[in-house]
Amino acid sequence: MIKNTYFMVGPTAIPERVLHAMNKQIISHRSQEFYEIFQRLTNNLKKLFHTENDVLVLTCSGTGAMEAVIQNCFTAGDHVVVPVMGEFSERYAIMGEKYGLNVTRVNFELGETADVEEVMKHVNSETKGVLVVHNESATGVFSDIEAFGEALKDTEALLISDSVSGMGGLELKMDEWNVDVVLTSSQKALMSPPGLGFVSLSDKAWKVVNQNKNPNFYFDLVEAKKFHQLNQTPWTPAVISIIGADEALTMIIEEGLENVYRRHITNSEMVRTGVEKLGFKMFPKDLRFASPTVNTIAAPKKAKYIVNQLKEYGVIVSGGQGILGEDTFRVGTMGYVSETDISVLLYALGKIVKA
Ligand SMILES: *Cc1c(COP(=O)(O)O)cnc(C)c1O
Repeated sequence: MIKNTYFMVGPTAIPERVLHAMNKQIISHRSQEFYEIFQRLTNNLKKLFHTENDVLVLTCSGTGAMEAVIQNCFTAGDHVVVPVMGEFSERYAIMGEKYGLNVTRVNFELGETADVEEVMKHVNSETKGVLVVHNESATGVFSDIEAFGEALKDTEALLISDSVSGMGGLELKMDEWNVDVVLTSSQKALMSPPGLGFVSLSDKAWKVVNQNKNPNFYFDLVEAKKFHQLNQTPWTPAVISIIGADEALTMIIEEGLENVYRRHITNSEMVRTGVEKLGFKMFPKDLRFASPTVNTIAAPKKAKYIVNQLKEYGVIVSGGQGILGEDTFRVGTMGYVSETDISVLLYALGKIVKA
């Protein structure tokens, strides 16, 4: 018999309590029952984002939320700066280019964090936005969003942070840190089913969005905000995913945000010390910026073998991403992962190393 233990990097494992909450007949998104769920979910999301701004709910994956932000905040020709330190930050640069933005990439070596001073050298009075991935899920490295907020707060540029694999596991204080746009999605540290994007915008960002003439329809955030006031969305949302996310957010708030962040740190440290003891090296260059949600482990030429071997023990981890596919594997400590789960991972990995 094999019993599975999950360490995926998205979608991640869903708590039984959330699965049970979703196991019910569909309800209308124009019903009182739905409005109450929506209101509770979005109130909890505000706590999670550490913001007084609304957190809008979109039906799309994280990439859809990224695209919604590009469409609503910018127009072709706008200058934006994107620190590139892995696959996901690269995706934001490519997306901006597809929309005709004038994208300045600031490249960092894989495994490095985005250095604020280096990035700021490319920001000028024409710059409309700086798009920083909070937690680069390919390399397992996070960026110092607070420092970016400090550097950009008195400029015209909007600080936009993709925290898809951060939010819910790695603290981000939107208001206190002067972040203008924060986006995330349901299926990573929020331990909910895929299908929802969550986006919050500061007053500074809304001023830009309200004047933006870029055509958009499905992702029109002005429209989304109007409906949000009524605890609704303009179009039919992924109702079941919303019910699931509501339950998951309730669990997160019940555990307490500080405890949730601490659990992610403790768990990732346990993975790190454990794999180092077994002779592996972490991929991040500076462990101060090693992610508490995605642990990228170097295993030159052996990564795929290890992922497959772990599967034989029922230990489900993720392979490396893109060009890192052969040489790294990734252990998600996002969301529904406990200390005991990690002892299972280390046990299996120990056996594989011995063999
Ligand atoms: C997973 C992820 C995304 C979005 O991916 P989707 O598959 O579209 O949900 C975006 N950015 C980061 C950093 C991610 O980890």
